[in-house]
Parts: sequence; structure tokens; C-alpha cells
Amino acid sequence: MSNLVYDFAEGNKDMKELLGGKGANLAEMTNLGLPVPPGFTITTEACKVYLRTGAVPPELADEIDHHVDVLQQKMGKKLGQADDPLLVSVRSGAAASMPGMMETVLNVGLNDDSVNGLAHQSGNPRFAWDAYRRLIQMFGKTVLAMDGEVFEQALDAAKDAKGARSDLDLDADDLKALVETFKHAVHEHTGREFPQDPRTQMDLAIAAVFGSWNSERAILYRRQERIGTDLGTAVNICSMVFGNLGMDSGTGVAFTRDPSTGQPGVYGDYLQNAQGEDVVAGIRNTVPLADMEQLDKTSYDELMAIMAKLEGHYRDLCDIEFTVERGKLWMLQTRVGKRTAAAAFRIATSLIDEGVIDTDEALRRVTGAQLAQLMFPRFDADAEKEKIAKGIGASPGAASGTVIFTSAAAVEAADKGEKVILVRRETNPDDLHGMIAAQGILTSRGGKTSHAAVVARGMGKTCVCGAEELDVNVAQGTITVNGTVIEEGETISIDGTTGEVFRGEVPVVPSPVVQYFEGSLHADDGDELVAAVHRLMTHADEVRRLGIRTNADTADDAARARRFGAEGIGLCRTEHMFLGERRESVERLILADNDADCAAALAELEPLQRGDFLELLAAMDGLPVTIRLIDPPLHEFLPSMEELAVKVALARERGQDPGHDAALLTAVERLHEENPMLGLRGVRLGLVIPGLFAMQVRAIASAAAELREQGKDPRPEIMIPLVGAVQELMLARDEVEGVLAEVGVESIPIGTMIELPRAAVIADQIAEAADFFSFGTNDLTQTTWGFSRDDVEGAFFSRYLEKGIFAVSPFESIDREGVGALVRTGVERGRATKPDLKLGICGEHGGDPDSIQFFHEVGLDYVSCSPFRIPVARLEAGRSAL
Ligand code: ADP
Ligand code: MG
Ligand code: MG
Repeated sequence: MSNLVYDFAEGNKDMKELLGGKGANLAEMTNLGLPVPPGFTITTEACKVYLRTGAVPPELADEIDHHVDVLQQKMGKKLGQADDPLLVSVRSGAAASMPGMMETVLNVGLNDDSVNGLAHQSGNPRFAWDAYRRLIQMFGKTVLAMDGEVFEQALDAAKDAKGARSDLDLDADDLKALVETFKHAVHEHTGREFPQDPRTQMDLAIAAVFGSWNSERAILYRRQERIGTDLGTAVNICSMVFGNLGMDSGTGVAFTRDPSTGQPGVYGDYLQNAQGEDVVAGIRNTVPLADMEQLDKTSYDELMAIMAKLEGHYRDLCDIEFTVERGKLWMLQTRVGKRTAAAAFRIATSLIDEGVIDTDEALRRVTGAQLAQLMFPRFDADAEKEKIAKGIGASPGAASGTVIFTSAAAVEAADKGEKVILVRRETNPDDLHGMIAAQGILTSRGGKTSHAAVVARGMGKTCVCGAEELDVNVAQGTITVNGTVIEEGETISIDGTTGEVFRGEVPVVPSPVVQYFEGSLHADDGDELVAAVHRLMTHADEVRRLGIRTNADTADDAARARRFGAEGIGLCRTEHMFLGERRESVERLILADNDADCAAALAELEPLQRGDFLELLAAMDGLPVTIRLIDPPLHEFLPSMEELAVKVALARERGQDPGHDAALLTAVERLHEENPMLGLRGVRLGLVIPGLFAMQVRAIASAAAELREQGKDPRPEIMIPLVGAVQELMLARDEVEGVLAEVGVESIPIGTMIELPRAAVIADQIAEAADFFSFGTNDLTQTTWGFSRDDVEGAFFSRYLEKGIFAVSPFESIDREGVGALVRTGVERGRATKPDLKLGICGEHGGDPDSIQFFHEVGLDYVSCSPFRIPVARLEAGRSAL
């Protein structure tokens, strides 16, 4: 028999793919001897079958029967047993944690008979009826796909009828009546009765959990977090323990360290007389975990001991869900917990100091994406600001935006390019799309473990929660705070580190980590985060094999990149140097209809170019500077054809002479291309316009010569763009070498960009004429897929992402199978001709963590990225080498 079901005692933490994270860790805790309520896990394999066929595998029923039998024996009671029923929860749990995205049903096994047994057995009828109404409510919502509002409204009506403030004020009879109301609602909305047979309840709940894998919000979350679409979820059947049996019971969540700073200590929330989701849903106010010591010292001490044990065992921060049933502690979940970027760096280095992990392991545990977050700006401490409230800093960052109260409105505003802060009393899983769209999230309720806090931290989004002074009125569209009213659409700023909320937009300053990279703050200046970053960056630099260069066209960018650790320039785009006031000279060049005019225009441009290169090469003195000769089509330097045509026509209509504009229009029309991306550009331009490349090369060579005379060490490299045939490169190379000889500066390497599929395929030939290759992965992606980035990203990419054609835009992260295969081919064939051919990459992908991993694997010598991404690239290059 294939194994579709595992007892908790049969699994372990390394079986996440099969048992899901929750199941694997429940098994691990069980085997560590921790108090876990017995149960079993149905594998993701069963889920995959369900998702494929719409039905669970036929052999599953028998396997479940068997495990239910075992469970019943262990617990000494049976499902549906009228006098003392076994109750279970049916819990989702995928391999990658997706907090709150999928479904869980508690109290499965209750029915009209066994509810009386539970009442009698527990001596607490109120509790029994409360458990039953929760079952019908969760079952209705999750399994029967009813609108949760139906139940919420009935509950509110029952409370109103009684003048009750909290659900705790409803007694057994009220809840019994509510159960009747709920059952009627089920019948009315689904045409079916609430199923009384426990095993039917369980089977339907299992199928619903499987199905929740493809709920809208789960799909959205996976896309956001780049989690695969076909992994499926496991289902955990776990015998129920009850935190809602009275004030000696309760439920809570805890972290072994502070997930926002990484500091050791006691962090979490506890709620007496409550079940499951009550804590995270922010229904009643929780108490800080430390206060639990006063309420129930025995359970508290045991919990602390278990947390220490778990951290030691997992060698990392863990988060935990637990329940106390009449003074007895039960562990319901643990996992290596999500944390903020700052916490990730600090925990990793603390664990080195505590002797728990080594430096390699510490480096593995932080990511380039986290480092990028630490480089976001902070609010300026010295700026004038109007503070209106202080909540809990749940997920760091400095965010400003207009106040928006609903997720739909947030998405709408963000689509228009507006920056918004989503303000809610509390968030729930349906707010995910609004949270993604917003700059930041502000709630008036809930703690560090609330939904808003957990999800925001996972996404790296700024969040302040539990700002209780704020009275958030969604219906009116206002926030009232100490007599001040803030309307929807007003700008506020939130600080996710301090929890402060400000009116208006607060100016920002560079983060301490950026100041460290800039050199104005030092590793030993007392900032613990900076010290941690310094330590791991140093290690990354020691172990990385990839060189790191930058894409920079100006001396300022080059200098900044150098401070950030760039070891040269991998791409200097020269066309930027033709803009601004130099446009006129370019126009003259384009309009020239004889050699003399052409030469004169080039002669005007040459000293300007030379000046640019002098500054750039000086800023990168001693380091390689790869200069790409002009690439884009010439019409990009001329005014738009439509505008010019209108101007000329208007002038003529008024009887005026359009003069220069007419000549310009003729040129624009002559140069017009239907498909400029595939038109006269790159090396083609150089071969067609005589003297253009020569002028650029002369500017480079003479700048280098001048710097050498000054005793400097300029190291330019000349790069020919958009080569598809070796003949193109040979012709261009001849011209370049001729000029170099003329100026008397030799030994400048001449290479090419590999950015056409043909170039990658014939890289062995191209290598004959090249001293180096640089993979231009932006154009290579465009030409491989056959789509132009400017045209497709808005047009259909979002739909492609939705349909799962790609999990992430191929312009953001390298498409390994297609574009990546061409890079690999280019590397292999190029090196087959010239084993010591220098290989780099200078597309946008050079700063993308996943892509850097790939470039390391295929054996490139360096990646080149924008100055601000340099630290990220250094870190990821280090991680790739481990
Ligand atoms: P999620 O993945 O959304 O956290 P869980 O499966 O952990 O969903 O369950 C939701 C809530 O129900 C959690 O607070 C959990 O602790 C609680 N819960 C789940 N199973 C049981 C059980 N057997 N007894 C008591 N509480 C439970
Ligand atoms: Mg949970
Ligand atoms: Mg290109």
C-alpha cells in the first residue's frame, strides 16, 4: 500500500515536501517528546491527485480508517461517541509556509448528540455549544463555501438581543439557539443539512483543505512569494485540545526571539479562555506573553523550557502556537519563523557568537532581498513632524501615502500610480491584494502576531499595528485620533520600526546600512545591525568567486558604486552622453548630407566625449571600465515624428517657412523604422555611419593617454554592441584597432555583447575576434522571447503571471531554461575557442539574487549591476559560492 498517511510519530522535520511544514514539524515535536495532541498527516501527494482529478485517491479512505482507529485507541474515545466524543481539527499545511492563506476546521466530530456528551463530560455546557457553533461556522465558510458574513451577522444579532458586548457574555442557551440559527442558515444557503456523521465532516473538510490550495488569495500569495503552483498542501488531522474551557485555559502564539529586531527575550501574545484563531484575529485584546507567568506559572515555565529546547534543536528562531487546557500545556505548531530583514542579520550573527552555527551557515541564512530592504531610506529624525499616534512597529520601513480604507480602493489607487497606506481596524486574509498594493499597512488593533504583522513581515512591507488611539471608521472614511479627524485621501507617514504615525509626508534620509556602505558610518560605531551586516558582507567577499562591477555612465555613479564595493564598470552606455545640449551636434551629424559636414559634427562631439571619459576613467582609476559604443537607433536623438509633422504643417498653413524643422522632419522620416528595436542600431549603425565609432574610440583612447601621462592607471575596455555575425565584429574591430594605433594607445581590450540568440549560438566564432564577452541579458531576453520590454510589461505580463506561464517576469529574473540556456551555450562555445575569455553579464539581471546564483553556476567571471544593487550582488555572489 502506498503511504498517503503518516502518524505524527512517523515523520520528521525534513519531510516538508511530503508532509507540509506544519505536519513535518508536528512530527518533529512529537518525536522530541513534546506535548503534541496525537494525530496524523495526509500527504501532499494525495492533494496533488485531488487537484489533478477532482477526487482523493481511492486508497486514501482505508488508510484514513486505519489511522483513525489508532488515534481512537490512543485517546480512548471515538469519533461521534455520544457520551465522550473524540474531536479533531482538520488543518492545512503546505511545504512553504503560507500563514492564514488556506483553511482549517476545528471541532470536527461534533453533532446534535455528541454535543450533549461533550457538555456533560466537560461539565461545561456553554463550552460545548460554543465549540459546536464554531464548527458549523467554520465548516459553512470553508467547506460549504458560504459567506462568512451570514454567521457573523447571526452572532452579532444574538449579542445585540442580549445586550452582550463580547461573545463571552453569551451563555449555553444563547449558543444553543445560535447553533439552530446556524444550521438553518446552512440549509437555506446550500440546500443541504449540516452533516451529522463525523467521518463525512472529516472527508469533506479534507477535500476543502486540498481545494483551498487554489483559492484566489492562496494563488495571489504564492505569486507574491514566488512559491510553485503545483506543490499542493498536506492535511493534518489533530486531536482537539481546548483553550476555551474557562479562565484556566487559553491559547497563544510565541517567538523564541523578537522577529522584528532579532533580540532574545519573551515575545508573543496570550489570550485566556479562547480557541485557535481568536488570538490572531484580534477579536479580544491579548496580553503580552510575559504576563502569562502571573496567570499560570506552571504552564509558562514549561513553555519557556520548550521554547529553549526548540531553538536549540532548530538552531534558529522558531515561532510557536500553543494552547493550555485546564492548566495543561499543548504544542500545536512550530516552524522556523519569518523575521524582518534586520532580525535575519542580527540573529544570524548572534547564533555565530552563541556557537550554534558557523559563518558559512550564517551567510546562507540572509538574502540579498533582505539586504535590499535594509537599504531603504528612513524618516529624517530632525525633520518637523506631527505625530498623531504610536502603535507597535510590526514590520520596519518608512512609508508615506494617502489614507485608504479598503483593499479594493488600495489596488485601484495603486494602479493609478498613487502611493497609499492601507488603514484597517485589523486585516484578514482577504486583504492580501490591498496589502500588496499599499506602501504600508496601519491597523488599530492586534499585536506583533496579528495577521497584518505576520503577512507584512513576510512581504517586507512596512506595517504599524495596534495603534489603539486611532478610531478607524471605515464606513465614514475617517480616522479620529484625540479629537483630530483624518479623512480618506489625506497623506500620512508610518514608521514600522518605532510604530509612530505622522500626519503628512515626512522627509527621508539614507538608512544606517547605506551610510555604512557610503563610508560615513563604521562597523564599530555601535550600531548592532551595521556590525552584523559588515560581518556577513566581509565573509561574502571572502568566499565569492564572481567579480562585481557596476553599470554607470557618470563619474558620480562610478564613485558611489566604488564606495559600495564595485570592482569596475561592466557597462558604460555612451548614448546618454549625446543628450541634453549635445543633441544639436547629434542633429547636425544626422542631417549632414556630405562627408565634410559629417566630419565637422563628429569633431564637435569628440572633445565632449573625451571629457566624459576622462572623468569616468579617473573615478574608476585602476579598475576596468567597459565602454559600450553607441547602441540605440539615431532617431531616438531626434524629436518625435508626429510632433514635428504637426509643427511643419502648421507653419506652412500660416504661410511661414518651417526652415530647419522641415529638414529635420525629412531626416526623421528617413530614419523612421517600424521596429526600431530590430532596426539600424548597435554595430550596424557603426558600420553604416562612417566615423561614428572612430570618434568614440579616439575620445576613449586619448582620454586614457592623457590620464596615463598624469601617472594614473586608466583601464578602458571597448565593447561592440548587438553583434550577430563574426564578420560584423571583425570589421568593427579593424576600425577600432586602426584608431588605437593612430592615437598610440594599444592594449585596450576589445570585446562584444552577446545579446542576440545567433551570437550565443556561434559564440565559438565570435570569440575569435573578441577579448571578452558581456551577456546583455535585457536584449537577449527580448530577442529570445520575441517581445519588446516596453510594449509587453503593461500589456499582458500580469495575465501571463496569473496563468502561470512564468512565475516572475523574465526581465526581472533570468529565464534559466531559455535565455539561460543561451548564456550557457555562449559560455561553453566562447571558452572552447578561448579558454581564458573574460565573461560577464551587464543586464538588469546582474542585480537579481536568483539570477546571480545562475551566473555563478554557469561560470561567469563577473556580474555588473546598478550602483545601488552592488552590496546585494556581493552578498548573493558570496552565498552562491557556498
Ligand atoms: P494556520 O496555518 O492558519 O495557523 P492552523 O491549522 O494552525 O492554521 O489552525 C488555526 C488555529 O487553530 C491555530 O490557532 C491553531 O493553534 C488552532 N488549532 C488547530 N488545531 C487545533 C487543535 N487540535 N486543538 C486546538 N487548537 C487547534
Ligand atoms: Mg497555525
Ligand atoms: Mg543591448
